[in-house]
Amino acid sequence: MKNKKTGEYYCLGIESTADDFSIGISTFKGEILANIISAYIPEKGGIHPREAARHHAEVASQVLEEAFRKSGLKPRDLLVIAFSQGPGLGPCLRTGATVARALASYLNLPLVGVNHCIAHIEIGKLTKRVKDPVTLYVSGGNTIVSAFDLGRYRVFGETLDIALGNCLDSFAIEAGLRQSHGMPFGAMVEKLARKGKKLIPLPYTVKGMDTSFSGLLTAAVNLLKKGEHKLEDLCYSLQETAFSMVTEVTERALAHTEKKEVLLTGGVAANKRLQSMVEAIAEEHNAKFCVVPSEFAVDNGAMIAWTGVLAYKSGLVTPIEKSFVKLKWRLDEVEVPWVK
Ligand code: AMP
Ligand code: MG
Repeated sequence: MKNKKTGEYYCLGIESTADDFSIGISTFKGEILANIISAYIPEKGGIHPREAARHHAEVASQVLEEAFRKSGLKPRDLLVIAFSQGPGLGPCLRTGATVARALASYLNLPLVGVNHCIAHIEIGKLTKRVKDPVTLYVSGGNTIVSAFDLGRYRVFGETLDIALGNCLDSFAIEAGLRQSHGMPFGAMVEKLARKGKKLIPLPYTVKGMDTSFSGLLTAAVNLLKKGEHKLEDLCYSLQETAFSMVTEVTERALAHTEKKEVLLTGGVAANKRLQSMVEAIAEEHNAKFCVVPSEFAVDNGAMIAWTGVLAYKSGLVTPIEKSFVKLKWRLDEVEVPWVK
């Protein structure tokens, strides 16, 4: 309901597509009042969906409490509950959806299912004051070049197999790196790559507007196992090759659409080398270049809350019986009536 003191409306958003469980709260004007993120860090190896889901269930009430504390709001101040309905890992999505349904039923509030990829774009537009960008969204689970056209965000290019972040993470795991002090694998690869000097030839795969990273990963891991190259040089070469691929596709989307803004988002957007490559092509096309602040570039609840606001204001709600999770929900399947 409307807050009597502030005259504002609030939406709470729940994110749980993969390794992060997060709850954010946004006003209807786009002020982010809370964005609490709890990341699941596996003891060894990559993300196990059921283990990640167990983490989400364990931390949910604590994250929720923290979000209310940070925002200074009470559950009764909310007007809408939004949640990441897909795409993502089944057990993780279902945990977030269960929390969302429980809250909506208990508080008797409308529920809004949000497409996770669209939320990444919308939070970038909000926080960087961007209107109509070509977006390069690169994370642990997604690699998408997209831009708005005729009522929807269209996919101009995407990965045909694994995501860019997954490629970096898998290489780091093979190289025996261990996640410590919350430093993501991609950031470790970046740190090592800075000391690399030799560019080792690796498979560069762009098919039409799509990219493929699995051959690149296999080749890099094979070279790693041979032990003939320095790890720093392999990290450097892996980054140069993979980042050039996504930058090439982004540049072609920019040339084709003639948009005047480029937005870089997703966990991999934190990478300085990738930022400089994408910035260079933006400059060449006289487009403004923006990177989403890291708190909102990784998976986060604030982006779900804000996209929930946009959808709800356009009259979109998700009845409980239609709130099942959609593991492979593409962003180009979604009408976005709030974008003109
Ligand atoms: P997300 O899926 O959006 O939560 O982002 C997580 C992904 O971002 C993982 O694949 C991380 O390894 C990657 N990542 C985080 N920081 C960096 C960095 N500095 N360079 C490259 N990748 C990164
Ligand atoms: Mg994540």
